[in-house]
Amino acid sequence: MKTTAETQKYLNFINGTWSKSHSDEVIESTNPAHPTEKIGYIQNSTKEDLEEAIIAAKTAQTKWKKMTGAERGNILYKAADLLEQNSEDIARTMTQEMGKTFPEAKGETARGAAILRYYAGEGMRKEGDVIPSTDSAALMFSKRVPLGVVGVITPWNFPVAIPLWKMAPALIYGNAVILKPATEAAVTAAKVIECLEKAGFPSGVVNLVTGKGSVIGQGLAEHHNVTAVTFTGSNKTGNHIGQTVAARGGKYQLEMGGKNPLIVADDCDVDLAVDAAISGGLKSTGQKCTCSSRVIVQEGIYETFKQKLVDKMSQIKVGDGLEEDSFMGPCATKEQYDNVQRYIEIGQKEGAELIWGGSTLRDNQDGYYLEPTLFDNVTSEMTIAQEEIFGPVLTLMKVSSVEEAIELANDVEYGLSASIFTKNIDQILSFIDDIEAGLVRVNSETAGVELQAPFGGMKASSSYSREQGEAAKEFFTTIKTVFVKG
Ligand code: NAP
Ligand code: MG
Repeated sequence: MKTTAETQKYLNFINGTWSKSHSDEVIESTNPAHPTEKIGYIQNSTKEDLEEAIIAAKTAQTKWKKMTGAERGNILYKAADLLEQNSEDIARTMTQEMGKTFPEAKGETARGAAILRYYAGEGMRKEGDVIPSTDSAALMFSKRVPLGVVGVITPWNFPVAIPLWKMAPALIYGNAVILKPATEAAVTAAKVIECLEKAGFPSGVVNLVTGKGSVIGQGLAEHHNVTAVTFTGSNKTGNHIGQTVAARGGKYQLEMGGKNPLIVADDCDVDLAVDAAISGGLKSTGQKCTCSSRVIVQEGIYETFKQKLVDKMSQIKVGDGLEEDSFMGPCATKEQYDNVQRYIEIGQKEGAELIWGGSTLRDNQDGYYLEPTLFDNVTSEMTIAQEEIFGPVLTLMKVSSVEEAIELANDVEYGLSASIFTKNIDQILSFIDDIEAGLVRVNSETAGVELQAPFGGMKASSSYSREQGEAAKEFFTTIKTVFVKG
């Protein structure tokens, strides 16, 4: 195990060895359901630690890229098996570290194994095209090649799936990686890296360096030997990373926030739409970048929808995610908890009507618990209709037509995911055409993602690159065009 004996001190993983930081300092990780409970300590790493990881990765990558795709794939298959074997422990750690309910954490860990297997298979798929040359005596072809060292910077809200959907493609295409996970979920990340270690990646191919974003994340963004940086997180951090990497001519990919609309048309199956609002808006305590936060409802069905939504919200059990029947856990951190409450206050001040929830539940539970919350009479210029709240808060907006709903849906800086509930094919087609979102969903919640399909947003939600599925190849490789003449 990578922990030191005294307490759960999780180490960095550099060049195939679990090691302490040169700082000799650790950062504690706590349980948002029981804030005094410590989940473990992670290394507060320095630039020196990062430098060692980058040197190790650069050296290891030159051999790793020479292995066949099938050989690399076999290691990824093994990693998938190990992740599955350890899924109970990893999922429990995730629940305790960031508050996601245990069933959701289990689901995410299973998805992690599926991601590893999907990319393991990529090792056996084509890596180029033959292109006819104007010279009949020549062979011309394109060949996908790795980039080199890839820096992976991830958020706390999907601490298994996001690191894996970045690392697995990076690795299968022959890159070496350095993971800098979110501090708030770094213990979970260390457990994932442990599975990768046991799977048998050669030393230096996979590295973990924990610590402050402003030191380790920034260091990855700045370093000339880190060819590419893949980032998921907030817009503020992402844009800064993008500018830093671009300034030195590196490659970058940013996946950031969302303010996702769910449109409910008069003709839809209202019960399905209510379920989608609950599931897409409140699961993971609303802390998904794809969560539905604006529910835009046509006037003919508005009152019925609202009543049914409130009925369902009143049945939601909030609790420690390890309890079998809790639907929603706590906010992941004190900062999130304070921030969501600030938005609830702003909503009220700006004239939205708080019709369900809105209160803290800390009086009878010590964790960062908030009630599922619903605002009515929300208009597009209000802060709660524009900014990402990242908490269990739904906002209801009334429109007279689907056309108006689409216009309203597009009236934000973000464009990650959007969904519509309707049976009308014309409305479906104009939604698909006119909505400004990278993920377009019809009669399904905004928060569904399939690992074999491209994932990413438009507008401020992303740098217009895509992750997952075949799209990952675009980012994690570059092309050599080869011309051969005998
Ligand atoms: P965050 O604060 O931006 O942090 C993301 C990562 O960046 C963390 O590892 C963080 O490290 C690191 N970081 C912080 N400052 C940095 C700097 N100056 N230079 C380099 N790296 C730095 O985001 P978060 O609060 O963890 O996550 C929530 C956000 O992620 C939300 O906005 C959400 O919408 C977004 N998100 C987007 C997607 C998507 O695919 N579009 C998916 C999930 C989440 P520390 O933890 O040490 O600060
Ligand atoms: Mg925590």
